Amino acid sequence: MESALSRALQEQRIEVYFQPIYSVREGRIIAAEALARLNDPQLGFVPPDEFIRVAERTGDIMEVGRQVVSQVCAFIAKEHPEQKGVHRISINLSPMQCMNDQLAAELSDIIDRYGVPFERINFEITESSIEDHYLIRKQMLTLKERGADFSLDDFGTGTSNLVRLLDLPIGFVKFDRNLVNSYFKGDANFLPDLVRMFQKARVLIVTEGVETAKMLGNLAAMGCDYIQGYYFSKPVPISRSEERFSRNA
Ligand code: C2E
Ligand code: CA
Ligand code: CA
Repeated sequence: MESALSRALQEQRIEVYFQPIYSVREGRIIAAEALARLNDPQLGFVPPDEFIRVAERTGDIMEVGRQVVSQVCAFIAKEHPEQKGVHRISINLSPMQCMNDQLAAELSDIIDRYGVPFERINFEITESSIEDHYLIRKQMLTLKERGADFSLDDFGTGTSNLVRLLDLPIGFVKFDRNLVNSYFKGDANFLPDLVRMFQKARVLIVTEGVETAKMLGNLAAMGCDYIQGYYFSKPVPISRSEERFSRNA
C-alpha cells in the first residue's frame, strides 16, 4: 500500500472527486467537497480512509494535500464552477498538515499559482487538527484574511471544548454522519439544540450523510443551512462534475 501510494503520487495519479453540497435557502447546489481517490493498477480502488491513514504515517500526506489543492485550483481556473452557482470547493486538511507553520504560505502559493480567488476555497479541519491551538489559529487567520473560509469537519465525533473551538475563525460546522444517523434513530434528541447553539454563534451548519427526502425535510425544518449526502449525489469524478453542476440551473 505504501509503495502504491508513493507511485501514485510520483505519477500524479491521485484523483479528485467532487460531492455537491445543497443550500436549503437557495434550493440548489452551491458548493462541493473535494475527496481524494486512489485507483491502483494492482490493488484496485483503495478507500481514502485507508490511504490517508498510510499517508499520515509516512508523511506523504503533505504531497497528497498539494496534489489535491492543485487539482481543485486547476478545475476552478478552467471550469469556473461559480458561473454555474457552485461558489466554493471544500478541501480536507489532515491533522498533520495543520501542524505545519508554513501551511498558510504553502497553500497560498498553490492557489496564487492558478490565479484562483481565495473566496472560492473552503478548508475542512477536524478537532484532531487543533493539537496546537495557537499555531492552527494563526495559519487559519492568514488564509481567512485572503478570503478563504473554514469548516469544522466531523463535528460530534470529538470531545473538544466548544468555547475553544468557537475561538477559531470557522464559518461552517459539519455535523458528522454518525451524529445525524443517531438523531434519526432517536438517540441524539439534542440535535435541534446544537443547531440553535451554532445559529447563535453565527456558524452555518452543513449536515453530512443525508440519504433520504425525509432526512432532508427534517434537517431543513430544524434550521440546518446546507445538506450533503447520497440523496443529492455521491462523489463524482472531476470530469463528470462539470456536467453535474450544469444540471443546477
Ligand atoms: P469526510 O471528510 O467526512 O468525507 C465525507 C465522506 O462521507 C466521504 O467518504 C463521502 O463519500 C461519504 N459520504 C458522503 N455522503 C454520504 C452518504 O449520504 N452516505 C454515506 N454512507 N457516506 C457518505 P470518502 O470519500 O470515502 O472519504 C473518507 C474520508 O477520507 C473523508 O471523510 C476524509 O476524512 C478523508 N479524505 C478524503 N479525501 C481527502 C483529502 O483529500 N485529504 C484528506 N486529508 N483527507 C481526505
Ligand atoms: Ca470532509
Ligand atoms: Ca466529515
